[in-house]
Amino acid sequence: KNFQTFNFNSNIVAGIKSVGYVTPTPIQLQAIPLILEGTDVMGLAQTGTGKTAAFVLPILHRLMQGERGKIRALVIVPTRELAEQVLQDFKTLGSKTSLRSISIYGGVSITQQINRLRSGVEIVVACPGRLLDHMKQRTIELSRVEVLVLDEADHMFDMGFLPDIRKIIKCLSHKRQTLLFSATMPDEIRKLAQEALTKPVTVQL
Ligand code: AMP
Repeated sequence: KNFQTFNFNSNIVAGIKSVGYVTPTPIQLQAIPLILEGTDVMGLAQTGTGKTAAFVLPILHRLMQGERGKIRALVIVPTRELAEQVLQDFKTLGSKTSLRSISIYGGVSITQQINRLRSGVEIVVACPGRLLDHMKQRTIELSRVEVLVLDEADHMFDMGFLPDIRKIIKCLSHKRQTLLFSATMPDEIRKLAQEALTKPVTVQL
């Protein structure tokens, strides 16, 4: 099987080609059709499996239609390093689209982030602490988020971020699609999934 099976928008196909991916990985084969049809997905996958592109590609495809300039996809990650990796995938796989993505995390100038947010973006990849700062200061508008991704949820739990995650989720629309990725499934993550996801389908390697 190749990427043609997903019937992606031609700009997404061009992005995949530019990156050089030919064959979808097993997690991509399982997760992409579900995500494209709007299903909530729990992905049990380690890094190195292609899990990032498994959510980046269907999100890019979805955002090709609909409004620009509003944040429509929000990816929450535990670390700055992961935020930059995920952002990079949105930028490279989305290089043939005009979709705009930014990363939001602490330890760097908040003014610059506010200016980029003001200029209009569709995709935000964020660490919980700085995202909450923006929410408190009302410098970010999340009411239009259609897709929420919780990436490396087990690491977010280990790092004590679950209370922050719950605060963030409370401010989002209930109509959204939610995707949760985790290498392990401790009880705390299972509980979070029950709260945040609706009729999730689990995909596992
Ligand atoms: P991840 O599990 O998302 O951290 O991805 C691991 C690595 O696999 C990254 O370097 C990706 O660029 C690469 N990758 C993801 N999907 C594919 C694919 N379908 N074919 C080849 N490489 C891929």
